[in-house]
Amino acid sequence: MTVTVRAPAKINLHLGVGAVREDGFHPLDTVYQAVSLYDDVSVSDSAVWSVEVEPVGDVDVAGVPLDESNIAIRAGRLLAEHHGVARRARISIAKGIPVAGGMAGGSADAAATLVALDRLWDLQTSDDDLLGLAAELGSDVPFALIGGTARGTGRGELVDPVEDVGTWWWVVVPDADGLATLSVYRAFDELAGSDVGPTPAAPDLLLAALAVADQDAFAAALRNDLAAPALMLRPDLRATATDVVAAGARTALLSGSGPTFLGLAADQEQALRVRGTLIDDGHRALVATGPVAGAHVVRYA
Ligand code: ATP
Repeated sequence: MTVTVRAPAKINLHLGVGAVREDGFHPLDTVYQAVSLYDDVSVSDSAVWSVEVEPVGDVDVAGVPLDESNIAIRAGRLLAEHHGVARRARISIAKGIPVAGGMAGGSADAAATLVALDRLWDLQTSDDDLLGLAAELGSDVPFALIGGTARGTGRGELVDPVEDVGTWWWVVVPDADGLATLSVYRAFDELAGSDVGPTPAAPDLLLAALAVADQDAFAAALRNDLAAPALMLRPDLRATATDVVAAGARTALLSGSGPTFLGLAADQEQALRVRGTLIDDGHRALVATGPVAGAHVVRYA
């Protein structure tokens, strides 16, 4: 039997970052939104753990490890250990989420693998346990399970759904060269110095805009504290942001730790127009909408 689970990419509508903690993590106050770029993860029983990755469209999968360091295998092992079962699986990933782009594709795969193996092996893991295992795997993994729009605190792993009555349209502009999340946080520490306090900025204005789908207030409230450090490491990305706005987007927002840029569009039509202009300019560009569902089964076969 094969179970296929689909998990979405995430973007951060607000990413407030506080001073680095003693354990090396940064406290976050973030608002995630799940958007319509997906990885589909299929699992079936096997004598050994294995993972294979197929690109969807022109996603570059060269940076995805195919050994035990792949987060999907780590997720599978963790779930098996948690239940004390000695089972293994073959994992196939159809990857539609840009790799190392700040859209948490690896986290989506981890979340999808947890749900898929839970179903394949009929483990009936409780939601609380699933969220706990997800948090062990990475700060963004619990959100990939719940999807929608949610506030993340702690290091991003404590997730609470928030009211979001809008349908938001994004033009997603991936970059050919990935940006390592760790190096962006190091640059943040360097830039912030002693000016940043332990409490990250709260998303109050954004939450108010989401609750009534106020486009102007929403556009004005988007915030990413990792934008300055990411642009310090990659000054060339400023040109991408300029192109996104010149192509007609309302505003440009760096996705998480980058290098992917997001253009906010008023509706689907405008998003498609902006995408066309950016492609004519020589960029890769995709259209995505949010919020969408978290990891969910799409096929039993
Ligand atoms: P982060 O979640 O750290 O913000 P990201 O969203 O920028 O990361 P990902 O696509 O999740 O980027 O990948 C980050 C790195 O994780 C990759 O460069 C790759 O080395 C490693 N990795 C491990 N497993 C996977 C996986 N299943 N898919 C993608 N990358 C993976």
